[in-house]
Amino acid sequence: MWWRAADGPDEAVGSMRFHSTRDLRLTAGFGAALEQGLAPDGGLYVPETWPEVEPAALRTAHGLAELAERLIGPFAAADALAADLGPICAEAFNFPGPLVPIEGEQLGVLELFHGPTAAFKDFGARFLAACLTRLRAGAGRPLTILVATSGDTGGAVAAAFHGRPGVEVVVLFPRGLVSPTQQQQLTCWGGNVRSFAVRGTFDDCQRLVKQAFLDEPLRAARALSSANSINLGRLLPQAVYYAASTLALAGPRGEPVSYIIPSGNLGNAVACIWARRLGLPIGEVILAHNANRTVADFLTDGHWQPRPSVATLASAMDVGNPSNMERLRALYPQLEALRGAVSACSVDDEAIRARIASDYRRLGRIWCPHTAVAAEAYARLPEARRRAGRWVLVGTAHPAKFREIIAPLIGRDVPLPPALAALFARPSVFEEIDADLHSLRAALAGESI
Ligand SMILES: *Cc1c(COP(=O)(O)O)cnc(C)c1O
Repeated sequence: MWWRAADGPDEAVGSMRFHSTRDLRLTAGFGAALEQGLAPDGGLYVPETWPEVEPAALRTAHGLAELAERLIGPFAAADALAADLGPICAEAFNFPGPLVPIEGEQLGVLELFHGPTAAFKDFGARFLAACLTRLRAGAGRPLTILVATSGDTGGAVAAAFHGRPGVEVVVLFPRGLVSPTQQQQLTCWGGNVRSFAVRGTFDDCQRLVKQAFLDEPLRAARALSSANSINLGRLLPQAVYYAASTLALAGPRGEPVSYIIPSGNLGNAVACIWARRLGLPIGEVILAHNANRTVADFLTDGHWQPRPSVATLASAMDVGNPSNMERLRALYPQLEALRGAVSACSVDDEAIRARIASDYRRLGRIWCPHTAVAAEAYARLPEARRRAGRWVLVGTAHPAKFREIIAPLIGRDVPLPPALAALFARPSVFEEIDADLHSLRAALAGESI
C-alpha cells in the first residue's frame, strides 16, 4: 500500500470526512462536499485528517491521470465516487502540464495552460465536471450550475460541462466588461451551456447567483449548484500537478522544490500547500499577487483587512478578499506558523509590463500577465536564495489569451494555440438580461433543458 491513514499503519480504509473551516462539527464525505460546494455555515470544506503519501511509491505512476488517481484515492476512499475515480481522472487529466526548464537558472516553468480554455482552471473544472456528472446520474431533475464570471472561470466551467447529460450551465458575465477573447470563450458553446450578458458589473452577477440560490421558485424548478473555486472538487485535483513536478525535480534524495504561484483567491496556492502537507518534498511557497495587496500586507503587519479589488493587467487575480485564506488559516491558525509556511509579494502593472518585455528579450519567453507576476517575484529574490534551491514558476494562462496586452510590449502578435483557435471558429450566442432576479428567472424559464 502506498499510503497509510494518519491514525496508524495499514488500518482498514475508512471513508474520509471533510469539515467546515468554521464549525468543525459540520462534516461531509467526498461526493457530498463536492455537490454542496460550500458548507452549510458558509465555511469551506477541508480534510479532517491527512493521509501520508510515500513519494517513492507515487513515482511509479505513469502520467498525470494515474498520479491523480493515487493522490486523490485516499480522499475518495469508501465514497460513492471511489469506484469511478480512475475514469474520472482520465477524463480530467487528458492534457499535459509540462515543466519547461529555463536555461542558465535552477528554474522551470510549470505550464498549466494546455487545456481547452488555456488556463490552469481547466484541470479543476474538468475534474469537478467528471465527478458531478456521475453523482447526478439517475437524478430526476437536471442540475443547473450557475457561474458568475469576470472572464476566466466561466469559460473553463462551460468547456468542462459542455455536452454532459443531466447538467446545464448558466454563465453570467458583465456586458461589455470582459475582453473580446474572454467573451468568445463564454458564449461559443450552445447546447447545455447558456450565456447571459448582464447589464451591470461583475458584482451584480455574483449577487444574482446568491439571490438565485435563495429563491424558492427557482429552487423548486431545478437543482442548483455552483462551480466556484471554493469547491473542493476544483481544489484537490490541482495538488496533482504539484506532485508531478515535485517528483520530477526533487530527484531520488527528495531535495525540496520551491514554487512561485500567481495568486488571487489562493485556490492554486492552497493546492500546493496541501501537496506539501501530504508529504511531497516542497520547500518554499511564494504567493505572487498583483496590486491587490491584502495577503502581502497581512503577512507583513498581521492585520487582515479585505478591501475592494483594484483592476490590474493580471485581471484573473483581481481579488481583494481571497476566499481560500480560510483554508490557509485552518492549516496555520498562528500567524508565525503561517509566516513560516508561505511568503507573499505584490507586483504592480508597471512591473508586469516591464517583466513581459524584458523576459521576452532576455529569454525569448512570452508570459501572460499573471505568469509575469511570478516571474517578477522570482527576479526580486536575493541571488543567494535563488541559487540555494530548485524553483518553479507556475504558468497559469497561455499568453495568447491576453494578446491585446502583450503584443504591444513585445512587438509581435501571439499566435492562438489550436484549442483556442477552435473556439474562435464557433458562433457566439448569448442573451442580454437586466441585473435583477426577475429577469434571470424569466430568462431561465425560457428554454430549460
Ligand atoms: C484564476 C487565475 C489565477 C488565480 O488563481 P487563484 O486560485 O484564484 O489564486 C491566476 N492566473 C490565472 C490565469 C487565473 O485564471
